[in-house]
Amino acid sequence: MPPRLIIVIPCYNEQEVLPITAPLFLEKLTQLSSQGKIAENSRVMFVNDGSKDDTWNIISRLSQEDEHYIGICQSRNRGHQNAVLAGLMEAKDICDITISIDCDGQDDINAMDRMVEEYLNGCEIVYGVRSSRKTDTFFKRNTARGFYKLLNAMGAEVVYDHADYRLVSSRVLQEFANFKEVNLFLRGMFPLVGFKSTSVSYERNERVAGKSHYPLSKMLNLAFDGITSLSIKPIKMIFGLGMFIAFISFIGVIWAVVEQLLGNTVSGWASTVCIICFFSGIQLISIGVIGEYIGKIYMEVKQRPRYIISERTWTDKENDDVTRS
Ligand code: UDP
Ligand code: MG
Repeated sequence: MPPRLIIVIPCYNEQEVLPITAPLFLEKLTQLSSQGKIAENSRVMFVNDGSKDDTWNIISRLSQEDEHYIGICQSRNRGHQNAVLAGLMEAKDICDITISIDCDGQDDINAMDRMVEEYLNGCEIVYGVRSSRKTDTFFKRNTARGFYKLLNAMGAEVVYDHADYRLVSSRVLQEFANFKEVNLFLRGMFPLVGFKSTSVSYERNERVAGKSHYPLSKMLNLAFDGITSLSIKPIKMIFGLGMFIAFISFIGVIWAVVEQLLGNTVSGWASTVCIICFFSGIQLISIGVIGEYIGKIYMEVKQRPRYIISERTWTDKENDDVTRS
């Protein structure tokens, strides 16, 4: 029997985009199922991430028009990563494979064919990797490159140029459900689950409409989150830096004592101020990094739910018909 696919699509204020891209997703689903690669009862699942515009109404309407569309609604905006997680966790018990993809048409849906093929060949995770960044601005291209280099240098294992366009089997999702952290960086977490994986490349296009919800500040946040969620290397680096500075200071102390004994000391205002500034700077940075981890621990120990679903396009009673049939 061909596998049942659920395409998981996070949507935040996408009323201009959805009417254009939703039929494209359905078309791809129909094409794959008519080729016998996926089951006929596969679904396109939209996750409304607390949109303030008409997005949820559009999703509800789509689900009434065609049973292949289903939707869930988060009780408020929680961010892209949590929206994808909510969709994947909803999907994991009712399908064999999921593909997560943005709803803005930037990721080439034709790569799904190759993703499904790789799954049929035995891979449990297939990462979509951008083959080029022609459509990105010079600035975005280079900050993104720097981002992946930094992540890898800091010990977070990520697939280069892979965002969140990815096929994951329900078997992997069952294991992934045991990763309980609330600070999510999905693209760095899936490689930790293991299982056989591969990548397929695709061209990244322009958004079909609307504008990006990821300005530079959010990208920097995601980068910092990625590093501190996946690696404790910054803490180790501070320790290394501390050792190095302690060593230099020790030499400095010997030097100061020798100078004092030789009677060469002059009233050194500048050097005193420099040293105070330098060390207070280092200390503040170090405390800041440690504070970041303590903040994360604080968030983790609270064990708050990572997503809350307020509505579904199907009711529980219908669940068997709509989602399993
Ligand atoms: N998104 C979301 N919640 C948010 C921000 C974005 O669900 O708080 C969705 C958005 O609708 C889109 C995807 O995440 O489907 C990627 O967002 P966007 O296209 O704005 O980011 P970019 O592609 O510019 O990095
Ligand atoms: Mg986008």
